[in-house]
Amino acid sequence: MRSHYQPSGLFDPVRLVVAIAALFPLAGLLGWMMSGALAENTYAVVFIPFLAALPLAAAGRVLARWSHVRNPPLAFLVGAALATLMYVGQHYANMVALLGPRALFRFDIFPGFLVDLVNHHLVIGDHSPKYPGKPDPWLNWSVFGVELALCAFISGWQWYRAARRPYCEECRRWLGGTTTQLRGGSARTLAQALNTDSLETLPTLEAVFGQSPERYGQLEVMGCMHGREGDDAIIFVTVSETVRGEKRSETTSLVDQAAISPDELALIYERCPSLQVEPCEA
Ligand SMILES: [Zn+2]
Repeated sequence: MRSHYQPSGLFDPVRLVVAIAALFPLAGLLGWMMSGALAENTYAVVFIPFLAALPLAAAGRVLARWSHVRNPPLAFLVGAALATLMYVGQHYANMVALLGPRALFRFDIFPGFLVDLVNHHLVIGDHSPKYPGKPDPWLNWSVFGVELALCAFISGWQWYRAARRPYCEECRRWLGGTTTQLRGGSARTLAQALNTDSLETLPTLEAVFGQSPERYGQLEVMGCMHGREGDDAIIFVTVSETVRGEKRSETTSLVDQAAISPDELALIYERCPSLQVEPCEA
């Protein structure tokens, strides 16, 4: 069996704390904006939380890299916790908006306020005679749970993905890499050769130039030479295939961050004339 990249589980504790501290105000600001949307009655169920989670997730991805987090489960938890802060924070902002500045630090009354607010919130209809709504606690808490889970997942997933990228423990840096588009058939052949340890039988791999066809493969080579010549370079390859449909494209992972030797990489280069750039020192 070919080995795959294994995250070490480590992280830079000081940077991680700084990153979380930096994301606190952003989570608060986004929560406050969600609360504003709720007050303005433009709170579209699921859609607004989804929109609010995107910038939080994007910033989280950048800061996860900066914190050198190589612990995907921990990364997911941090991202999910920040999104929870944002989502629950919107109701804290509601409380302050309703009770005034004197409620700014009333963390003690917040749980009660939250339960009461969600119990009596109107998801469907409003207080006008035209669309009379009736609060439905069961529906409200379901929406609460779904929206919270959605936000937590969007943010946590970006943290998780960032933490799963290959990292060189020796040089303390994320690995650089190159991505090459291949013809669909070539990607499958390469994946099979990698999975069966038979790279020497590999035929010529055809790369795609210009516009991608409907079905194409992607070869991503990531590695670290540790800044010197030698055979101790670490190299990982990922191969996927994408089929573009009418409405959306679907990507299938064929090989996920499999470890290969420099000799094996040389073999792949030989069979793929367009892969002549050195991917390891990006
Ligand atoms: Zn290195």
